[in-house]
Amino acid sequence: MVIIVGSGAGGAIIARELAKNEIPVTIIEKGPYIDSKDAFNYYDAYNDSVDLLTTTCVGGATIVSMSNMVRALDSELHEYGIDISDEYEYVEELVGVHDLDDSHIGKGTQLFWMLEGNLD
Ligand SMILES: Cc1cc2nc3c(=O)[nH]c(=O)nc-3n(C[C@H](O)[C@H](O)[C@H](O)COP(=O)(O)OP(=O)(O)OC[C@H]3O[C@@H](n4cnc5c(N)ncnc54)[C@H](O)[C@@H]3O)c2cc1C
Repeated sequence: MVIIVGSGAGGAIIARELAKNEIPVTIIEKGPYIDSKDAFNYYDAYNDSVDLLTTTCVGGATIVSMSNMVRALDSELHEYGIDISDEYEYVEELVGVHDLDDSHIGKGTQLFWMLEGNLD
């Protein structure tokens, strides 16, 4: 039995892979189960001088994230001879990563993009 603490993206993907390989797994979550539309009410309170956003609830900070899926540290890892592109591709397919349709881009961003020549 593997015990995972926290049900955000990190804990959830590990739990999924263990379960798929028939390894018993239990996730321990500190926060309550909430409707994702209420997640903004579950930001943790920190000292005012620390600008840090986390949430304590099932799904964690993952459910308040903006859904930008970038390959973090991809080139830096390559410099150390580490290639996790297969793992990135696996997760991207799992969660359905795709380019954002132009109709979902806000007016302010569209303006910047037009100035940069990226949009008509
Ligand atoms: C507003 C916002 C927008 C973001 N937008 C993006 C984005 O667009 N793209 C991107 O890549 N990243 C984004 N991020 C960052 C991304 O959301 C986090 O890096 C990611 O969700 C972290 O996943 P995690 O599993 O490590 O942590 P979390 O998702 O925070 O999960 C940790 C879990 O552990 C639980 N926990 C904590 N302590 C305990 C304990 N003692 N016992 C039991 N459970 C405990 C918490 O309740 C939580 O459920 C954003 C973050 C925020 C806050």
